[in-house]
Amino acid sequence: MSEPRHALIAGAGIGGLAAALALQRLGWQLQIVEQAPVLSEVGAGIQLGPNVTRILQHWGLQDALKACAFEPERLVSRSALQGHELGVLPLGQAMRERFGAPYLTIHRADLHGLLLQSLGQAMDQTLVQALIQGASPANALAHCADLKLGQTVQSVTMQEGVQVQTNTELLQAPLLIGADGLWSRVRQALWQDGPPTPTGHVAYRALIAMADLPAALRTQHITVWLGPALHVVQYPVRAGQAMNVVVIAYNRFEAQQGWDHLVAAQEVLGATAQVCAPLRAVLDAMPVWSRWVLFDRAPLTGAHAMAQGRVALLGDAAHPMRPYLAQGAGMAIEDAQALALALQDRPVPDALAHYAQQRWQRNARVQARARRNGRVFHLGAPWSLARDVALRMAGPKLMNLPWLYGHVAPGT
Ligand SMILES: Cc1cc2nc3c(=O)[nH]c(=O)nc-3n(C[C@H](O)[C@H](O)[C@H](O)COP(=O)(O)OP(=O)(O)OC[C@H]3O[C@@H](n4cnc5c(N)ncnc54)[C@H](O)[C@@H]3O)c2cc1C
Repeated sequence: MSEPRHALIAGAGIGGLAAALALQRLGWQLQIVEQAPVLSEVGAGIQLGPNVTRILQHWGLQDALKACAFEPERLVSRSALQGHELGVLPLGQAMRERFGAPYLTIHRADLHGLLLQSLGQAMDQTLVQALIQGASPANALAHCADLKLGQTVQSVTMQEGVQVQTNTELLQAPLLIGADGLWSRVRQALWQDGPPTPTGHVAYRALIAMADLPAALRTQHITVWLGPALHVVQYPVRAGQAMNVVVIAYNRFEAQQGWDHLVAAQEVLGATAQVCAPLRAVLDAMPVWSRWVLFDRAPLTGAHAMAQGRVALLGDAAHPMRPYLAQGAGMAIEDAQALALALQDRPVPDALAHYAQQRWQRNARVQARARRNGRVFHLGAPWSLARDVALRMAGPKLMNLPWLYGHVAPGT
């Protein structure tokens, strides 16, 4: 007799909701356990390469993305100290033609919201379908995703499938997906390999309505400003209605968990004192800054780090990465699609082994490349001069990464 298609997902972040949506589409019954009491609008900008938008389109999110994401025309790298252009990567139509899907920027809350909305719609359809097939309303409801907010995973044991103790109840399922992010309890319970490590870098983030920005500072592309021990990324989000700005600098602060610690503009000024006037103008226009201390783990070394028996890790829980390749959310979404497809026609333990085998090397490569980008972005003279010459002479070639953006997820 085949096993019940029932999964427990720890975490309703981008990866948890993506996994829920991918599995929901294949008829799985889901329970999602999320520690936050409400799913609030937190976070700032996220970039989505064609490797990711292709999956979101496959899940039917094309129109929803059009409404809230932004498609920049170019990625421009500039000197943070002198302001001149170093290299340009055409995005927009060029990306669509090359990789068959767009390169988009989006606010994390919008991406989270559209995954949630789509999951809700999929639930409605599953419910209607089950009712049409004659199930009682109670049984039909059991086919739907069940989102338990304000419940924290505390411990996990591999017993009669998997047992998860939350702060309020004991849950059981034949499959557990640990999508509980950077500080994953699932990972801690089963892999026991310690917490992630501070990178020594800090991100300052700000968001401003485009209408509140002086006209001369409004741009329609992604700009990456490179300087010694510092870089700044800015791009439109919210369908072009807002500008997202992130400053990455070296960390002189206590390693602190969390995304949204408000800081005084003075702190950002201190970290960016030497930047050129055009960049200074952008930074000075930001109304509020928050600080996000960055942590990561060394790149994955094998499939064993992504699955054990009936438990799979996904997204930041499996492979937290530095944001210098802009693929944290992207890899969580790729994981979700690969996991759902692996589970389509295999028993759970085989499917998880297949998933881990399929995903670990790609995730490790992205983790390693993100670390390398950080080193290259932050070079000081004289090495920065060599980087700048290389960008001027071969910018598109260096910035366009077919192995990354051209990846076609299984089943899409
Ligand atoms: C609040 C927040 C804001 C972010 N902002 C940005 C941003 O602005 N830009 C950017 O590039 N990336 C941001 N990220 C990171 C980015 O979303 C992730 O790197 C990426 O999407 C991978 O997603 P994930 O699902 O693996 O992890 P996450 O998106 O971190 O999701 C993990 C989820 O698990 C929940 N959780 C954690 N522990 C438990 C537990 N014990 N029990 C139950 N639930 C638990 C968390 O509350 C969270 O909802 C943010 C993440 C969070 C949580």
